[in-house]
Amino acid sequence: MPFDLDNVLVVAISSSALFDAREEDRIFREQGQRAFIDYQIANEDRPFKKGTAFPLIEGLLRLNTLSKKQLVEVVILSHNHPEAGLRAMNSVEHYRLGLSRAAFVGSTPVARYLPPYRVKLLLSRNEADVRQALAGRVAAGLIYDPPAQLCAESNQLRIAFDGDAVIFSDESERVYQQTKSLQAFFEHEKANAQKPMADGPFAAFLRWIAQVQADSSIRNQDGSSPIRTALVTARNGPAVKRVILTLRAWGVAIDEEFFLGGINKAEILQAFNPHIFFDDQDVHAAPASRLVSTARVMYGPTADIVSTPPATVPGPIVVTAAQPYEESTRGPTLAPLAPVTKKVFETRLREIFLGYTPLHNGVLDARYRKFIADTRDRSASERAAIMQELQRYDLSNLTTHKPMLNREREDMVAAKLARVIAKAAGASQGSLDLK
Ligand SMILES: [Mg+2]
Repeated sequence: MPFDLDNVLVVAISSSALFDAREEDRIFREQGQRAFIDYQIANEDRPFKKGTAFPLIEGLLRLNTLSKKQLVEVVILSHNHPEAGLRAMNSVEHYRLGLSRAAFVGSTPVARYLPPYRVKLLLSRNEADVRQALAGRVAAGLIYDPPAQLCAESNQLRIAFDGDAVIFSDESERVYQQTKSLQAFFEHEKANAQKPMADGPFAAFLRWIAQVQADSSIRNQDGSSPIRTALVTARNGPAVKRVILTLRAWGVAIDEEFFLGGINKAEILQAFNPHIFFDDQDVHAAPASRLVSTARVMYGPTADIVSTPPATVPGPIVVTAAQPYEESTRGPTLAPLAPVTKKVFETRLREIFLGYTPLHNGVLDARYRKFIADTRDRSASERAAIMQELQRYDLSNLTTHKPMLNREREDMVAAKLARVIAKAAGASQGSLDLK
């Protein structure tokens, strides 16, 4: 039965929002795509560090384990080449994130794929993608660099929102931006206090959170709510009433509400300690991003204003030694393998290699045909060991850790296939010619 995406919160995330890939981004910018892909393949087994949106995703996915039904689905939606993207999938497995779906779309705008995936929240480092998503009425945030320390709270998902142009529409923000008069803004809000504000881009997400909070079956072991929300807005004085009456009209409660006037949002946010903070204005979001994970909602009259100085030029590339991948996920199993007939062997290898054959026209690339021809006459137990080793390269299921056979580089394919035979030889206790 097809998986029904309509009834879950589908979050699409780019791999560079989920993981800290700043070093890799710089290789791409400075040395080009080929160098970038080669670097990712060479480091395929070295997990990325956690990125800005990692705590949010981990917290959202935890709700699935607390609930009897699936509440959240996370999809990696990436501009990466699949060869480079595999490192992200390996990292997903390393951190044991309950995330199984991915799409690698190259240079195609991801906005095209938001409707078929039923995406309700997009988190990305790509500004055009975020703007297009918001234009298509999908909540979206442009992810800043990771803060000095990522939120480590694991028992409760904590999300902080700005009000205007995030939860609420940008109508009132426009009044202020057009008049640049706090007095005019206050008068507008007083006059409209009884009129609930229209939905902003994150209103639907906030309502979804409120529903989860209201469900008494979704609770931590100690009975507490697994989500806590905060409103952190620059509104104060006469502009407060309309917020309270709007949320009342919506039937949505926010756990903590801060009406700050001129007070710095960043320190309040640090004290609230959210997994993420959403704000439409760089002037608030940029300082906050140094202390807590932050995303900018590129929406409303200030969407084009950038107040941050250009990022400092990073230092030289430091390539640390590759960390070994956990042994339990690698290598052949030690249990004796059932012998494999020539026919099963050829069929299975063809299936695996077809994943690497352009156009999938049923004709295998010559290098793979040769590999099958060279190995099918080995003993049944050696065939079993080779087949088992090759499962690691099966592209039909990217949800488990699987390295790839590079499609373009003859030498890399040859080296990997030689390793398959070498490992299989070790597993079957045989003495095989490795040439
Ligand atoms: Mg705002």
